[in-house]
Amino acid sequence: MSETMNTFEAQQQGRPTGPLVHGYEVIIGFETHAQLSTASKIFSRASTAFGAEPNTQACAVDLALPGTLPVMNKGAVERAIEFGLAVNSHIAPRSIFARKNYFYPDLPKGYQISQFEIPVVQGGVVEFFLETGKGAEVVREKKSVRLVRAHLEEDAGKSLHEDFIGQTGIDLNRAGTPLLEIVTEPDMRSSSEAVAYAKELHKIVTWIGICDGNMQEGSFRCDANVSVRKPGGPLGTRREIKNLNSFKFMQQAIDYEVRWQIEQIEDGQRIEQATVLFNPDSGETRAMRTKEDAADYRYFPDPDLPPLCISEHWVQEVRGLMAELPRVMAERFVRDYGLPEYDATQLTQSKAIAGYFEETVKTCGQAKLASNWIMGEVSRRLNTEDIGIEAAPVKATQLASLISRIADNTISNNAARQVFDTLWSGESADVDSIVEAKGLKQMNDTGALEAIVDGVIAVNAKNVTEFKSGNEKALNALVGQIMKASKGKANPQQVNELLRGKLST
Ligand code: ADP
Ligand code: MG
Repeated sequence: MSETMNTFEAQQQGRPTGPLVHGYEVIIGFETHAQLSTASKIFSRASTAFGAEPNTQACAVDLALPGTLPVMNKGAVERAIEFGLAVNSHIAPRSIFARKNYFYPDLPKGYQISQFEIPVVQGGVVEFFLETGKGAEVVREKKSVRLVRAHLEEDAGKSLHEDFIGQTGIDLNRAGTPLLEIVTEPDMRSSSEAVAYAKELHKIVTWIGICDGNMQEGSFRCDANVSVRKPGGPLGTRREIKNLNSFKFMQQAIDYEVRWQIEQIEDGQRIEQATVLFNPDSGETRAMRTKEDAADYRYFPDPDLPPLCISEHWVQEVRGLMAELPRVMAERFVRDYGLPEYDATQLTQSKAIAGYFEETVKTCGQAKLASNWIMGEVSRRLNTEDIGIEAAPVKATQLASLISRIADNTISNNAARQVFDTLWSGESADVDSIVEAKGLKQMNDTGALEAIVDGVIAVNAKNVTEFKSGNEKALNALVGQIMKASKGKANPQQVNELLRGKLST
């Protein structure tokens, strides 16, 4: 254990210091349980479907009744391999299942089958952008969180408290459900970085389809290990917040925990290593038990299961069947469409968004405009209406027509927003007829535009003089007047050029 701590210390030396909270640096490491989307359990043929009547889906193997033997589910292994490939890990050619022994009412067999010394997935890295600040002050930093490992294990059953008075029910349906436990180095430095990591991880596992990502049903749950220290000092003692199953609670729980730890230390108290639970109603974390050390679990290799052997051939086979990864797709967007890295990352937040973007570009050829519109107007609408892009009333091909009309100067950006609104409301589906019906065509007739420019110059002598004496802002006022006079149909760039031409003579 002390050796592990020393490695952590050493590894943290080169990492940048995070934002300080009352003079303390926050250190966070995550353990995430992703439920693998196999139809049957990790070592048996019982179903993993959610929501069945209690105790109808646990078979003798899941309960380790005498005379039964576990058999490895190939699909679970393949999902672990896919994950490892997605985050650039080493896939162990030989890994070992171990028994983690502990007593708990929801674990009648007395041990959980997990991996200990040699996990199937080793190392790896999760990269993402962390956005801080708001509006014009927004800062985007690229972050990378190193993974220690990801190992296969079985889930335990569940204690039910709600429908019982003075008693607890036990539902063993979940026993033996395949999990991938993904463990990071203590690389995160703030609650927002932790949430950004968790969101990225969630994106990866759902993208590659190894987990349905349903947080309410517990398919993706995170344990946050949190400690604080004075910058440059030794790592503090951590407390582990268990089972965070919403991004919102995750942020609240870590923020509360950080404040609590700092108060304790400032109060002269020592932090004791513990497992804590977050209570969303009170917004507080509370110690559940003092933390066991690995030694308390008396791990030993499971005598019922042979080593898990994965050939390079099998890894390549799995790789061959995997769809393009978000990271790889983002790189392609940068390379092929000339998009900034940030845009590419945003557009690969989900397969659906990426698909929508590619379809738009395929039709209009304007990658940057398409990116701006999707990350701007489209995302805003999806957010306010709380729907996914699949349900967007404006289809990719319609957005593409709209963008084509901006690109060929038929309409201004302002007019395009009006067209977009009409498309979104479903009033009309055709961009050109909306432009026509609403009279939004940009003025491309120079003669008519010149007349308006002359008119505005004639009645705004004050702005003209100011501009001529060096006040650039005065020009904006004139442009504004002209745009207004043209009912927004003038091309602002053309107006600018015309004005400058006329005023320089
Ligand atoms: P265990 O297996 O007993 O839970 P590990 O040493 O494997 O303990 O670490 C579990 C998690 O705790 C990892 O994600 C690790 O990054 C994180 N962690 C370890 N030390 C600290 C610390 N001082 N502060 C915050 N997180 C830590
Ligand atoms: Mg742990």
